[in-house]
Amino acid sequence: KEGSGPLPPHPHPHRETSQQLARETLEELDWCLEQLENLQTHRAVSEMASNKFKRMLNRELTHLSEMSRSGNQVSEYISSTFLDKQHEVEIPAPGPKERDKKRRPPPPLGQLRGGGGKQLPPPGGAGGCGVPRFGVSTDREELLGKELESINKWGLNIFRVAEFSNNHSLSCIMFSVFQERDLLRTFRMAPQTLLTFVRTLESRYRPHVAYHNSLHAADVVQSTHVLLATPALDAVFTDLEILAALFAAAIHDVDHPGVSNQFLINTNSELALLYNDESVLENHHLAVGFQLLQEENCDIFQSLSRRQRQSLRKMVIDMVLATDMSKHMSLLADLKTMVETKKVTSSGVLLLDHYTDRIQVLRNMVHCADLSNPTKPLELYRQWTERIMEEFFRQGDRERERGMEISPMCDKHTASVEKSQVGFIDYIVHPLWETWADLVHPDAQDILETLEENRDWYHSRYGGAPPPFPPLHYMGGVCAHPPPRVPPPSPSSIISSNKEEKGLSVGGSGLGGGEWDGGAIEGMGWGL
Ligand SMILES: [Zn+2]
Repeated sequence: KEGSGPLPPHPHPHRETSQQLARETLEELDWCLEQLENLQTHRAVSEMASNKFKRMLNRELTHLSEMSRSGNQVSEYISSTFLDKQHEVEIPAPGPKERDKKRRPPPPLGQLRGGGGKQLPPPGGAGGCGVPRFGVSTDREELLGKELESINKWGLNIFRVAEFSNNHSLSCIMFSVFQERDLLRTFRMAPQTLLTFVRTLESRYRPHVAYHNSLHAADVVQSTHVLLATPALDAVFTDLEILAALFAAAIHDVDHPGVSNQFLINTNSELALLYNDESVLENHHLAVGFQLLQEENCDIFQSLSRRQRQSLRKMVIDMVLATDMSKHMSLLADLKTMVETKKVTSSGVLLLDHYTDRIQVLRNMVHCADLSNPTKPLELYRQWTERIMEEFFRQGDRERERGMEISPMCDKHTASVEKSQVGFIDYIVHPLWETWADLVHPDAQDILETLEENRDWYHSRYGGAPPPFPPLHYMGGVCAHPPPRVPPPSPSSIISSNKEEKGLSVGGSGLGGGEWDGGAIEGMGWGL
């Protein structure tokens, strides 16, 4: 306590100082213990350091604000400008009331809609004023309604939804999901505004792109909607977080040109220049998505408070940037760490106390939905595969025309569709979904089973019977049992040589595998 001025006279000045020192030390120790309790193994040292500096600054600011009115102002300014703490304050875990509200099973489809005359639409809800029942004009509304009965199910046939809605699957799915979750009422959205927004959004997806068009967006929205409803995450997320996840899914590929980030970088495209080669497409999707809100009658968030809008924007940016496939490995590493340290309540629901944990689950959830094609019924999965290969081959054609090196999997003359799907599943999709399934155990076991069956189907198309060994568990845990270090697979080895592929399947590359990081994945062209 040097420099704090002379101590007041006291019979035992030394004892007084010691007591004060002891008190402060105990406070420090309490804080250290709290940090240790909340510490997650994956959290970088820099984050802990940053927490510590923020805490020190906070303490200083508290002193400052107590000194005078002007001190208070300065303190507020510094706190609001340099301390990124809004989320811990902004989004508390749902209170008992909100939890109760959410435990109620969602109302059956159609109940909230004006159609059928069963129930009046909620005030400000949909159904009136010329809003079509499913948000789109179609002369096959009955058939569309039949398909949409599966809106809460994994495996809804989105291709038929597109067929019966005159290719307006995204509008239709967004409108249906928002009603199903009562988001129009919760966030006081006018149905017309929602419709104008989703139609505008849908029109900004490029119809001539084979895979990354509005149908893929509709699929990711619906898949996210189902994942959000998984029992292990019951009442974990706030309405604002749910809204953010669905919005992120809806905009996550808007205005996709049908070529990869690497292609944009290699061709010195405007977008790559604009975003300095970093997550070029994902940054663009976000910018376009948020710009759309400013178009006439498109601001579906106009009734949100300023802080809600800020929080939502931050979450959406986080989730969409996480769809950059070059981030896959770090996402998966974080998810695995979370699984190994997960806490559940007595009723089996995941305990996610902190914002950082919840957003981590959400960004992985949208990432899973983005990589969910191989987990869907085979007839759907095969259609997605055709589309993505078509998109890859068109990029390959453009590369050939320009005399560029053709990206992996993009050369229609050499690519093996079946082998690429098996490699894609073994090295990317299955490790991800297996980890997700661990997180929400046992909710996603069916999904995992379908994925494995589909993998074997593609495998049987070129390799006969499925291999006798479990080919999918090449990844060890984060904390214990690091997997054996073997050379990382090169992108071409996965599709070119049976021998190499088998070697990789047995040993594989673990998280500690070093060089095989997001860069290689990006190079593989899995730019979903
Ligand atoms: Zn996508």
